[in-house]
Formats: sequence, C-alpha cells, structure tokens
Amino acid sequence: MGRREDTFGRLGFGGLRLPLTDAGNQQSIDADALNALVDLFLARGFTHFDTAYTYHGYRSEKAIREALVRRHRREEFSLATKLAMHHVKCPEDQVRLFAEQLENCGVSYFDYYFLHNIGAPAYHTACAMDSFEFGQRLKREGKIKKFGISFHDTPELLDEILTNHPELDVVLLQINYLDWESPGIQSRRCYEVARKHGMPVFVMEPCKGGVLANLPKRAERLLRAFAPDASPASWAIRFAAGLAGVSMVLSGMSTQEQVRENTSVLTEFVPLSDAELWILDEVVSVLHEEREIPCTACRYCEEVCPNRIAIPDYFGLYNSAKRDAVCGFSSQFVYYLNIAGTRGRAKECVCCGACEAVCPQHLHISRYLKEVSAEFDVPPAFFRGGGGKQV
Ligand code: SF4
Ligand code: SF4
Repeated sequence: MGRREDTFGRLGFGGLRLPLTDAGNQQSIDADALNALVDLFLARGFTHFDTAYTYHGYRSEKAIREALVRRHRREEFSLATKLAMHHVKCPEDQVRLFAEQLENCGVSYFDYYFLHNIGAPAYHTACAMDSFEFGQRLKREGKIKKFGISFHDTPELLDEILTNHPELDVVLLQINYLDWESPGIQSRRCYEVARKHGMPVFVMEPCKGGVLANLPKRAERLLRAFAPDASPASWAIRFAAGLAGVSMVLSGMSTQEQVRENTSVLTEFVPLSDAELWILDEVVSVLHEEREIPCTACRYCEEVCPNRIAIPDYFGLYNSAKRDAVCGFSSQFVYYLNIAGTRGRAKECVCCGACEAVCPQHLHISRYLKEVSAEFDVPPAFFRGGGGKQV
C-alpha cells in the first residue's frame, strides 16, 4: 500500500465521543469541557469537525453549534454531518431532516454531507428515495459543498455504489489496523475499492472506538518496547493517516490530552516503518487471542432494540472484565447494575435480530449478550455471601 507524509491538518474532530458530565448518560455533554477542546483543536491548526443527526442521543449537532459555530467564525472551520437513512421513509423526510440539521448546527451550509451508515438496507432506501440526486441538488443550491457516503458493508457493495455514483466526492470508511484484514469489516479491501475509483477517503474509527487506545497489557508492552513514549492511540492514528488517498482521519476526542496528542501526531507526522507495521501485526495477533467483543460503541443498535438494552455499554463492561481477567465480582458488575437500573438487562434480549441488522461491525449481538448475561446477570459469589473477589 502507498504511504504518505503530507498529513498536516488532516485530522477531524469527531462528534461521537464528546465529553460527558455523567458517564452513563450520552446526552449529558459537558459544554465547558467541549468549548475547551474545540478551542484547543483550532488553536493547534486543525479545522475540520464531524457530527451526525443521531450522535449522543441526537444532541451532538446542537452541542457542536454551541461550542464551535456560535463561538468561532464560519470561515475558520469546516463542518460535516450525516443524513440518518433509517429516518427517511419518504423523499420529503430528507428535505425536512436537512433543514432541521442546518438549524441544529446553526449554519447556512455544510462543507460535507454524508448519507449515514450505508450498507445494503440503507443503499436500498437511498435508491428508492432518490437520495443521491438529493445530495446533488443540495450541492447545486450551495447548501453543501461536498457529498459522500459513510459506508459499513462489503467491498463488493462499495464497488457497485461507486460504479453507479461516480458523482460522489468522498467516502467515509472504517479503517484501522485491527480491521484491516478482518473478515467482517474488510478495511483493506474497501480502501482498495475506493482507491480504484479514485475516491478520496475519510477515515472513521482509527482507534476502533478506543479499543486500540486501551490495549491489553501484553499488546501494549510490544509497542512500548519499541517506542516507550508513544501511546497506543498514536500508533493507530499513524496507521490510518499514513495511507495514500486518505484526506481526513476522524477521531473522537474527549480530553485535552487526546487533542494534544492526536494533533501532535499529525503535525509531526512520521509514517509507520516496515518494522513498526510488523509490530502492529503482532499486536493484532494478541488482540485476536484475547476474548473480547469487537464493538465500536457507535450505538446504532440501541435505537432499534425493543427492550432498550444498553448493548455497547454492556459489551464494554464485559470486555473490561475479561481483559482484567477478573471473574466473579468486579467493579464492572457494579456499573452493570447501575445501568440496568434504567435499561434492559442482557438477559432480556429476545433475539429479534433488529440490532444485528444495523450493526456496522456485523456482530452476532444476541449471542454475545448471552455471554454478557452469564457474566453479569448471575449475582457473583460476593453478593450471595460467598467468597468472590471484592473491589
Ligand atoms: S436481538 Fe436482543 S438486543 Fe437485539 S434488538 Fe432484539 S432484543 Fe434488542
Ligand atoms: S453492537 Fe454493533 S451497532 Fe451496537 S454499538 Fe456495538 S458496533 Fe455499534
């Protein structure tokens, strides 16, 4: 694969993982913390922001309006958002949603507008609703500058779409070193399809929802042995940013430390060497050996679950519990109980499959929930008066 060095400014601030005042409530965006992150990101010379209608329980666009649009001049930044295809039931819906999104963000135009989470079902909807022509119309009217798709399906479908729609300006792909050769995500093959069509690529999930920023100790030791001061996240960002044809790497940043680190990686960019790529292969091997659920916490599944099961939160807790090798009673169990106080438990999954139809990672969610339920729905020994490990 081609690798490149001209990466300055090609980092986008993702609006999916904004800072929160209450870690259990995705709508509790911390406005003061977000103001500081936005200011820092701009001060360090980066200008692109990405949000979507559905992020943070439909609050992300408005939060970006308050932190960015109302506090900075429009020409200082570029802004992207996405059309929620599962809300489009008739062509008029996309007109209404777009108008709502302009208002949510407090802008008169978007620099980039994407059809969100395109896979086979959403592509079918987009064709039926004439969404591709809708995007071109928005461009002609000056309401958007660039039109693209965010894509989560097979390289074959991507090839079909880009063949049928060469008018697209950009494609947003999930690319990271763990998914590069994964059979479910197929990052490499999707990237190669986009390159074949000469389509500029934006990257999402470079750290796979934090999985590659918080590696198991055995994997992190491999990286630290080579470069003691480089964080796992910096390796993941360098992998994505170094790919030829990648115009932008979107990263959800919720702390100032993350903004400083990610912007530094791009400002002083050094492509991964062959030796470093080889080390990442080793890290992938370790990750594959670890028993974990490869959920990116995009939360698409939550919206469609009839029993309001907090799927990504439970998967995260399960992964943490497994990674820490803590069986029985752990702090994860306490978090589980807190969340389950207001949401469905893992055991309440009725295997309807609605979540699996929208999961970009193609996870067998109901099967994983059975494992989560076995881990958390049975009170641990400590709670039953036995001798489980206490935290
Ligand atoms: S399969 Fe289970 S988790 Fe998924 S939507 Fe249905 S009830 Fe919810
Ligand atoms: S289970 Fe799938 S849809 Fe749900 S949050 Fe995880 S990756 Fe997203």
